[in-house]
Amino acid sequence: MTQEILLGAEAVALGAVHAGLSSAYSYPGTPASEVLEYLVRASDGGQAFLARWSVNEKVAYEEALGASFAGKRALVSFKHVGLNVAADPFMNSALTGANGGLVVVSADDPGMHSSQNEQDSRYYAEFAKIPCFEPANHQEAYDMTREAFDVSERFGLPVMVRLVTRLSHSRSSVSTREARPQNKLHYGRAKDWTLLPSNARRRFKELLARQPEVSEYAATAPWNQLRLHDGNRRLGVVVSGVAVNYFHEAAAGLSGLSSFLKVGVYPLPEALVRQLVEHVESILVIEEGYPFIEKSLKGLFGLCGKPLHGKLDGTLRATGELEPDLVRSALGLEPVAMKAAGGFPLPGRPPQLCAGCPHADTFKALTKSLEGFEKTNVFSDIGCYTLGALPPYNAVQTCVCMGASVGMAKGGAEAGVYPSVAVIGDSTFAHSGITPLLSAAAANTDMTVIILDNGTVAMTGGQPSFGTGEGLLRLIEGCGVAEQHIRTIEPLPKNHARNIELLREEISYHGLSVVVAVRECLVEGRKKRS
Ligand code: SF4
Repeated sequence: MTQEILLGAEAVALGAVHAGLSSAYSYPGTPASEVLEYLVRASDGGQAFLARWSVNEKVAYEEALGASFAGKRALVSFKHVGLNVAADPFMNSALTGANGGLVVVSADDPGMHSSQNEQDSRYYAEFAKIPCFEPANHQEAYDMTREAFDVSERFGLPVMVRLVTRLSHSRSSVSTREARPQNKLHYGRAKDWTLLPSNARRRFKELLARQPEVSEYAATAPWNQLRLHDGNRRLGVVVSGVAVNYFHEAAAGLSGLSSFLKVGVYPLPEALVRQLVEHVESILVIEEGYPFIEKSLKGLFGLCGKPLHGKLDGTLRATGELEPDLVRSALGLEPVAMKAAGGFPLPGRPPQLCAGCPHADTFKALTKSLEGFEKTNVFSDIGCYTLGALPPYNAVQTCVCMGASVGMAKGGAEAGVYPSVAVIGDSTFAHSGITPLLSAAAANTDMTVIILDNGTVAMTGGQPSFGTGEGLLRLIEGCGVAEQHIRTIEPLPKNHARNIELLREEISYHGLSVVVAVRECLVEGRKKRS
């Protein structure tokens, strides 16, 4: 056994390696990127196992599923909204089942530190009817991921490990164990993997039939712990994930030991919940994310007459991250007195593009080129360039999800927006901007797409881009965009006037045009040259 200081995301990655991981795939996104980054470093250039960035989360999931079908242990990781992109193979893989262990790491971002929403991945696990681990700390992140592979092979199902930002991005000491060997290539029942209706119906019945066994596992797993105490029967607490730490810290201030159920693996252990409910007068649910457990309890025990507290009745706030003082307050305790750090009147530091970022020059030229048009709209996408929505640029008006800008610009143009402009990065274009461009090219929609080609996935730390350089230009042409309306600019201050002129020409053209703004990300350029 050795000790390592690891991020929560890295503890998951190392747990996977020690579980005999053969293949890992991911698309970068905060707070999940560090899982694959660690694996890429640990993979010894692919000698030890394969760790590879994918073009998007759906592809990553399918690659991992293919490895699982081949009998190998595979991991796929992404942020919570990445699971939306991968939802199709994810849901269907619950029916096909896994052969080699298949672990899905979905990292939620309560509080939306770097996300468009704070959806809770536990609902997806329940939706697909697969087990879900929710580690409370770094040690559990390592141990649970190891076990998740065993559970996946035992039940023949994909298994989810749910992370949240606080765990993924904090460091702690982890005790590691000996690595197990990788699986040998072995195929399972190929018939199960062909979801023709006749097979799919059979597989869905089999998935439902397996549920009692899965529930039995969760009910007896050591990750779910019930502690009944007679000292304080007024309140029983159901607590999960990182909230376990806040609860234990606050519970030291309660008079009399509180009874509690710590939930670490789902399906929810109903028998343990029942025992807790019978033992106490009221229940408080403390969980990070949506009121997932709380809603289940309302369904299970809504008629038993005992008060249920949590996010649904306002005892805890329903949005944002939990905080130790919020948990103290929910337990009826005063907040911990803190000293204000006085004497340092620091100015606010809102996020902004790096000084000299190529996107800034593109936005300046774009804004200038749109002067004089009345009903214009600039549909943007997800990347560093989303900051173009803020001052001093105020250059874009939307940001919804990966790749959405192109489809929205098409819909806007067809509804009468003129000029209709989409702004999208090279990696986001490869992720999911290509298909709406195919659609716009087929219709020769009156719109302009600006692809910001800085050669990398800059926002998440410089992972490789799948749609950059000459290949990107060929991709655009292959989508069916007329060659004379595929133009490039170099966003530099010295080219400002020329860039405005070219953008105005293409924006004024009544048909589909694509302008590629080519200039390397400054940060990645510096890294390469250092
Ligand atoms: S990381 Fe690169 S793309 Fe992002 S703001 Fe900085 S220079 Fe621009």
